[in-house]
Amino acid sequence: MRQAKMSDASEAGRDEAVSGCRVMKFGGTSVQDAAAILRLCHLVQRALPYRPVLVVSALAKVTDQLMNAGWAASGGSLDAARESLQRLRQRHEAVAGGLVVGDEYDNLCKQFAQEFETLDRVLRAIAGEKAFMPHAQDQLLGAGESLSSKLVHAALGKAGVTTTLVDAKECIVTDVAHTRATPLWDETNERLQAVLLPLLNSGQTPVMGGFVGATRDGIPTTLGRGGSDFTASIVGAGLHASRIEIWTDVDGVMTSDPALCPDARRVARMSFDEAAELAYFGAKVLHPATLVPAMRSNVPVWVLNSRNPECPGTEIVAHCETDGRVKAVTVKRGVAIVDIEPVRWFAPELLREVFDVFERHQHSLDLLSASRGSLALLVSSVTALPSIAEELRGLAHVRWENHKALVCLVGEQIRRRPELASQAFHAIGDIDVRMICQGASERNISFLVDESRAVEAVQRLHRSFFSAPVSEPAIEGSSSQAMCQAEGAWQ
Ligand code: ASP
Ligand code: MG
Repeated sequence: MRQAKMSDASEAGRDEAVSGCRVMKFGGTSVQDAAAILRLCHLVQRALPYRPVLVVSALAKVTDQLMNAGWAASGGSLDAARESLQRLRQRHEAVAGGLVVGDEYDNLCKQFAQEFETLDRVLRAIAGEKAFMPHAQDQLLGAGESLSSKLVHAALGKAGVTTTLVDAKECIVTDVAHTRATPLWDETNERLQAVLLPLLNSGQTPVMGGFVGATRDGIPTTLGRGGSDFTASIVGAGLHASRIEIWTDVDGVMTSDPALCPDARRVARMSFDEAAELAYFGAKVLHPATLVPAMRSNVPVWVLNSRNPECPGTEIVAHCETDGRVKAVTVKRGVAIVDIEPVRWFAPELLREVFDVFERHQHSLDLLSASRGSLALLVSSVTALPSIAEELRGLAHVRWENHKALVCLVGEQIRRRPELASQAFHAIGDIDVRMICQGASERNISFLVDESRAVEAVQRLHRSFFSAPVSEPAIEGSSSQAMCQAEGAWQ
C-alpha cells in the first residue's frame, strides 16, 4: 500500500515524504461514528507517503458525558452515572460494529469491557468520596481518547494500513497539575522520539489519543479541555514534523463564526500570532495554547475539513505577507470588567498586590489598563471577585460589571491603519461601546459591549469588513486621529 500510494505524492510533497512526518489530528466530530472513522481511514491512506502520526479526540460529546457522569456520581446519583456509562459503552460497541466484524469486533469489545470496568470503579470511588476531585476527573475523562484511539486503530488495520496503537501516557510526560497539565518538554520530546520514530521508520502508522498525558510516576493527567490540538502540536514539534493537520468539521479558520455570520469566508493563510489571537479572543476552531509548540519549532499548521477534504483549508505559518487587512471578527462572551480604584493613591505596590491576589485565587486576567487614577481589568469569571475585593479592602475599592462581551477585529498590523478604526466606529457607532482596546499587539482592536448587543456588533462589523468590496490597503505609517494610544491602553 505504501508503495502503491507513493505515486499520489505531489512533487512538492516528495521531500516531506522522504524525511519528515505529518501529524494528523482528528477532532470529535471527525471520529463521531463509523462513517466519520471510515472517512478518516481514507484520508490517512492518501497521506501514507508523508508518514502520518495520528492523534485523535474522543468521539463527539463523550468528554462532556464522562464529565456529567462524574458530577452525578459525586452528587449522590451513582445509578444515573452508571447508566450513562452503559450508554457510552453501547455507543462505542455500535461504532465498532460498523467498522470491524468477527474476532476483531470481539477483541475490541473485550478491550472496551476492561476499560468500562475501570471507569465503573472510578465512578464508585467518586461516589464514595462525594467529591469529583481533579485527579479523578483526569482518570475519567482521559478514557474518551483511549476508547476512540482503539476504534481508529482497528478501522485502519481493517483498511490495510500497518498501524500501531500508542498509549499517549507513555509519551506525553506532564507536571501534576490535574485537569490542566503542562508537558515536561525535554522528557516528552525524548519519549516521543524514542517511541514514535522507530515505528515510523519501520513503516507503521502510529495512532494515539490526544488530550491525555501522565506524570513521571505514570499518574494520568489531562491537558485541559480541547487539549487534543495541543497534543498534536506537542507531537509535531517533538518530531520536527513537516506539518500538523488539524482535521475538523469546518473549512478552516473563518472570518467569523458562521453561526453568527452565514457569509463568513475561509481565511486561506494567516500567521501564528493572528491565529493565537483569534483562539484567545473567542474563535472556537483552535485551542489557545495549541500553537505554542508548533510556533516554537516553526512547524506549519493546517486546519482542514474532514467532510470536505478537497477544500484547501487554512494554513498557519510563522510569517505571512500582510497588507494590514482585518482577517477575522471574533467575540468573547461572559466577560466582566473590574474597576480597581485605590483608596489613597495609585502606587506600584498596588499593582503587585492585585496580581498576587488574582494569582492566589487562580483567576486569570484577560486584559488590563492602568491610568493614574485607577486600574481596569477584564476577567472571564466573577466567582472569586467577592473574596478578591475583600482581600484588597483597605487598599482599593473593587467594583465589577458583568454580562459584557469583547468583540475583536484581528489582523496583522491593523493598528497601523487608522481608517479601519473609523470604519468600525461607523459600523457600530450606535452601540454603546464601554471600552476600546488596541491590545498590546499590533493585530487586535477590541470593543467591549453589552453581551446583549454582541451578536449585532459582530454581524455589523463582519458585513462592513467582508461584504463590501475589499478596499486598497492604506499607506503605512499614517497616525490615527481617533484611536492612537499608548500600547495596551484603554480609551
Ligand atoms: N476530548 C477532549 C475535550 O473534548 C479533548 C479534545 O477533544 O480536544 O475536551
Ligand atoms: Mg472533544
